[in-house]
Amino acid sequence: MDLYKVLEVSKDAAQDEIRRSYRRLARKYHPDANPGDKRAEERFKEVQHAYEVLSTPEKRREYDEGPRTFFGSQGAGQPSGANFQDFSDLLGGFGNLGDIFGRSANAAQRTRAKGESITVNVRLSFEDALRGVTTRVGVPVEEACGECRGTGAAPGTAPLTCPECGGRGVQSRDQGFFALSTPCSRCGGEGRIIEKPCTVCGGNGRVRRNRQVKVRIPAGAKDGMKVRIPGRGSAGRRGGPAGDLYVVTRVEEHPVFRRRGDDFVVEVPVSFVEAVLGAQIEVPRPGGGTVRVKLPAGTQDGKQFKVRGAGAPRTKKNGAENGNLIVRVGLVVPKKLKRREREILEALAEERDEDVRQDLFKKVRS
Ligand SMILES: [Zn+2]
Ligand SMILES: [Zn+2]
Repeated sequence: MDLYKVLEVSKDAAQDEIRRSYRRLARKYHPDANPGDKRAEERFKEVQHAYEVLSTPEKRREYDEGPRTFFGSQGAGQPSGANFQDFSDLLGGFGNLGDIFGRSANAAQRTRAKGESITVNVRLSFEDALRGVTTRVGVPVEEACGECRGTGAAPGTAPLTCPECGGRGVQSRDQGFFALSTPCSRCGGEGRIIEKPCTVCGGNGRVRRNRQVKVRIPAGAKDGMKVRIPGRGSAGRRGGPAGDLYVVTRVEEHPVFRRRGDDFVVEVPVSFVEAVLGAQIEVPRPGGGTVRVKLPAGTQDGKQFKVRGAGAPRTKKNGAENGNLIVRVGLVVPKKLKRREREILEALAEERDEDVRQDLFKKVRS
C-alpha cells in the first residue's frame, strides 16, 4: 500500500499539503459522516495510519527509504507510536467531527456570531390590545460602534491578523495522529489583534444603547403574546447577523370582560323576574356598543349564551372569524321587597306549593 496514494498527495508533498489532504479525507471518511459504512471506516483507518507515518519526519524518512511494510505497527524494526485503537480511545469512540476539525476553521469566521436576541415587554390598555396599535418600545441593545464601525480598532487603524496563530485562534502541536489545540495565547482565540482600541467602545466593537423600536401590535392581541421582529436585536459580531427582537404583550385586565382564547366572557346580572319570564336584555360588548341577548323564560343562574363574532378579532391569518362574546347569567335575588311585591310572591308560593328538593332526597335515599 502506497501511503502517499492513500493520502492523495505526491511523494514530495510538503507537511502543509499532507495535513490539508489528511483533514479533507478524514472528514470525508469519518464514521460520523458515514454511519454503518464499513468501507468508509476502513478508508478512515488507512488515512489515519498514512497520516501518522507521513506527518512524522522520522517515520516518513524510514518509509521513503525502506522496502518495508508499513501498514500496522510491525515491520518497522521499532514500535510505532500509537495505533488506531489508542486514537479511538483517546477521543472516546471516534470522537466528534467538530471536536477534531472544528478548530481548523478561521477564528474570525468562528467568532462571526449572531447578535443576542432581546425580549421586552410592552404594556397595553385593554382597548389598544383589542383594536391593535402601533407603539414604541425602548430596547436595550448592543449596537455596532459608530466610531470604529464595529471593528473595535481606533479610527484610521484596523485589526491585524494575529501573527502568532495566523488568524486561526489556536496553537497546535502535532501529537502523532492529531494536533493538540490550545487557544492562542497572543490573541486569546480571537484570531486578530487590535493594537489601538477604539476609545468609544474600548475595542469591543459594540456599544450599549436604548433603541426606540416601532412595534405594530395586531388587533386582538392577547396577554403574553410574543411578536417577533427579525433583525432588531443586538448587532452581530464580526459581521454576523443581528439578533431578533421579541415583544411580549402585557394587556391590562378589564373590570368586566375576561379573555378566554379568542372569546370574551362577561357576567351579566339578570333579575329573577327576567329569568323566570324571559327577557330581551342589552349587554355591553368589548370595544364599545351593545348587543341584544334574548333570554328564554326559565333561564337558570350561570347559563351561558354565545354571541357569535362579538369577541376579539382573530390574530391568525386566513379568514378566521372573530371570537365570540360569552354572556354568563348572574341571577340577582332582591334583598328587600315592597309590600305589594311580598303579597304577590306569597300568593305565588301558595299557588305553586312545589317541593324543589324532592329529587335531591330521592337521590340520597336510593
Ligand atoms: Zn468603537
Ligand atoms: Zn492568535
